[in-house]
Amino acid sequence: MPESLARAVARERRPEPAPPADARRFVNQWVEREAIGSEEVPAFVLILRTRGCYWADQKGCSMCGYAKDTLGRSATPAELAEQLDRALARYQDEPYVKVYTSGSFLDDREVDPASRLALVRAFSGRARRLLFETLPEFATAEVLTPLREGFLGELEVALGLESADPDVLGRLVHKNAPPREYLEAGDRLRALGLRAKAYLLLKPPYLTEGEAIRDVLHSIGEARDHFDALSVNPVHIQSGTVVEWMYRRGRYRPPWLWSVVETLRAGAPLRGASRLVSFPTAGGLPRGPHNCRRCDPRVLEAVEEASLRQEFGPLETLDCGCRSEWQRLRALEPLGVEA
Ligand code: SF4
Ligand SMILES: [Zn+2]
Repeated sequence: MPESLARAVARERRPEPAPPADARRFVNQWVEREAIGSEEVPAFVLILRTRGCYWADQKGCSMCGYAKDTLGRSATPAELAEQLDRALARYQDEPYVKVYTSGSFLDDREVDPASRLALVRAFSGRARRLLFETLPEFATAEVLTPLREGFLGELEVALGLESADPDVLGRLVHKNAPPREYLEAGDRLRALGLRAKAYLLLKPPYLTEGEAIRDVLHSIGEARDHFDALSVNPVHIQSGTVVEWMYRRGRYRPPWLWSVVETLRAGAPLRGASRLVSFPTAGGLPRGPHNCRRCDPRVLEAVEEASLRQEFGPLETLDCGCRSEWQRLRALEPLGVEA
């Protein structure tokens, strides 16, 4: 896709500035299965409505359509406080809390410093672990120290590393910074006493299924000493993205769940002391990672169990008739050509 088209896609997905009524409501909230160490716990997930990721305005990542859930302007402190109050009304003291913003929680344009601190304090003493996401440039000691001091428990910061290969990250994913900056941010977080988590993207556009698996396995090896947890995130087709543009023209298939299984199975011995997990979004749906449909629920459940328990042996015994089709397709992929 030409550069100008990528920018046009980024412009189109940015909504018009929202009225105040929208800004007082968070995007979504649910509870999901998680684990802290070997203990399975419920996680309270909250998506705040903010101005969203600044990078999505400038260029945006090829698979990311989260800008549609944003305000098109910064939320005021009062609007953020109301979103938080509405969320707290549903909070049942789940031990794990995840707060997403469709961008960077630490970017002042999305969540101002006082609102950040208020949110962290609201869950302090109730949640054992609080997770939020950010781009690496915002993960500084200056911003993080007051948050760490405001929360009685573990803060976990998730970074969308996606790939440790600079070409894949820059040319195919269109991230704003090279992998080195993500790895350094992981080190900074841990030096400050925070947990660091990295997302690894399975199957960015333009990679074959086999190349995508190899890219994730390479990233696991590169990232494992910089992060406490590595999450394999298979691409699902989001609206208004480069990936959707390709999908509609028959040039992109979401990854097979067999590829997710393979990254966990082959990635487990490479992960060092870090946790390796995958909780696929839109799993089993046509626009999400899927196999033949018949085996999708079974394979998704096995992936979730392996992720929660950190036991990858049961993945070896999974099978279905479509597995040989996945293997055959991989064998037919173009052979690598030396530059
Ligand atoms: S993937 Fe992250 S950095 Fe990229 S556009 Fe989406 S929110 Fe921004
Ligand atoms: Zn199948």
